[in-house]
Amino acid sequence: MTTNSLPAALANALENELKNKKCCGLKCAPLGSRPPAVNQIIQPLPDGGTRTWAICRECEQALLGPEWLLLLCLGCGSSQWVCRALAPWATGPTRILSCCPECSKKNEEYADD
Ligand SMILES: [Zn+2]
Ligand SMILES: [Zn+2]
Repeated sequence: MTTNSLPAALANALENELKNKKCCGLKCAPLGSRPPAVNQIIQPLPDGGTRTWAICRECEQALLGPEWLLLLCLGCGSSQWVCRALAPWATGPTRILSCCPECSKKNEEYADD
């Protein structure tokens, strides 16, 4: 979840990417009014790569707290905060999905073509 365990070169590359992104990549506020990113989530992928999400201070706090669960979709990169009370099956601060409702919507659209 932090860059601590990453090789320096990779950490620098991610830091640059983070600077370029500037604002939070999670759905904590409407697009266009999202707070600046202060950290990032780094999720290893099955193919050996990684996917990162820039996060703001508020999202960082939410990840540390007990109230919220963060759903991250590897399929499309979307994210969704879920009240943990509604997801008692979840363990840990994040839940990684290989696809999400957005993805299924797209897949259905493709299927219609
Ligand atoms: Zn945020
Ligand atoms: Zn998705």
